[in-house]
Amino acid sequence: MMSTKPFPIIIDLHEDISYYYVSGASGLEFGLEEFGKDMPARHGDIPKFRKSRVAIIFSSIFCLLSTISPRITEQLTRGYSVKAARAWVPRATHSTSLEHIKVYYRLVELHPRDLSIILTREDVQRSINLEKIGFLLALEGAYMLEDVDDLKLYYNMGVRSIQLMWNFDNRYAASCMSSKDYGLTGEGEELVKEANRLGVIIDLAHASKNTHLDVLNISRLPVINSHSNARRLKDIPRNLDDEIYEEIKKNKGVVGFIFGMIGDNEDINSLADQIMYVYQNFGPDIIAIGTDYFGLIDGKAPKGLEDVTKIPKLFEILLDRGLKETDIEKLAYKNALRIIEEHAKYWRIHTHSQEW
Ligand SMILES: [Zn+2]
Repeated sequence: MMSTKPFPIIIDLHEDISYYYVSGASGLEFGLEEFGKDMPARHGDIPKFRKSRVAIIFSSIFCLLSTISPRITEQLTRGYSVKAARAWVPRATHSTSLEHIKVYYRLVELHPRDLSIILTREDVQRSINLEKIGFLLALEGAYMLEDVDDLKLYYNMGVRSIQLMWNFDNRYAASCMSSKDYGLTGEGEELVKEANRLGVIIDLAHASKNTHLDVLNISRLPVINSHSNARRLKDIPRNLDDEIYEEIKKNKGVVGFIFGMIGDNEDINSLADQIMYVYQNFGPDIIAIGTDYFGLIDGKAPKGLEDVTKIPKLFEILLDRGLKETDIEKLAYKNALRIIEEHAKYWRIHTHSQEW
C-alpha cells in the first residue's frame, strides 16, 4: 500500500484544455466554467491539478473543426470501433491553432500564480517543484504547417511538442486511419530533422505503423506516443501493436496510457491491466500517463478515473499488483521528464540574427 510518503508528482502527456474553451465545452459532460474554480465533474481545473500534484501538462493545440460529414464520421467509427456522433476535419488550421494558443496564454494571464507556459529549462524545474503548473504546448497534428520552416514560428510562440498526425493523412506522414500506409514522406523526414534540431518533442499518437517505424528509424532523439493503449487488450487502429512498443523501447521513448480505448471495460482496473501488460512486456522505462482529459469527446472518462484527482488511486492499485514505488514514479513523471530534459538542452530563442 501507499506509504505515508506523498504520491508522486504527475506529468500528463495529453490534455485538450484549449479545446474545452474554444468549443464551449462541446461534447463534454460538464459546462463551461472559470478555470480557478473546483467544478464538480470537470476533468481538471487549478484546484484539482494542485490537489493531485500535477506539474506539467502537454497542452494540445487541436487545429480541427467539428463536422457532420457522413464520410468522415464513418471513417472515425471504423477507426475507434465506437459509433461517432460527430467528426472533426482539419480546416483553417493555422487560424484555429492560433485561437488555441491564445487560450493557454489567456489562462496564464488570468492565473499567473498558478499557471505558466513551459519555454525554458528553468520553467521545467519550477513546475517540477510544483511552483506553477506548466503548460507544455503541443501541436495535435502538423496540418497547420504549410512547410517545415513554419515549425520554427510555432516554436517561437511556445510550442515544444509536435504530434505529426491526427486521424487524417497529411503531407508529412500517414495516420493510423489511413487506407494507404505510406509512412513518412520526404517532407516528413525534413520535419523530423527540424524538430530534433529545435528540441521539439515528436509525438506519434494517431500515426500509422509505418510512420512510427520510419520516425523511429531517423529521429536522433527519443520520441513519445502521448496517448495510446495496447492493441493486445483493445484491438483498434488507434492503439499500438507489440512491434511498435518494442521499437519505441529501443529508441528510449515513452508511451502515455490514454484514459479511453482501454478494453472490454472502460474502468480504472482495466487501465491497470493495460499498464501491467506494457510494464511486464516492455519494462518500466516506457510507461507514462496521457489522460486525454477534455478530449474524451462524446464519451465518458473511465469509471474510477472521472477526474485528475483520481489518478493517485490508480497508483495504489498498481502498487498492489506488484509495481515498485520507483516504477510508479517513472509512470507518474520520471520517464516523461527524462524526454523533456533531453529536448530542453536545445531550447533557445531563435532570431533572424541566428541561423534561420
Ligand atoms: Zn488525440
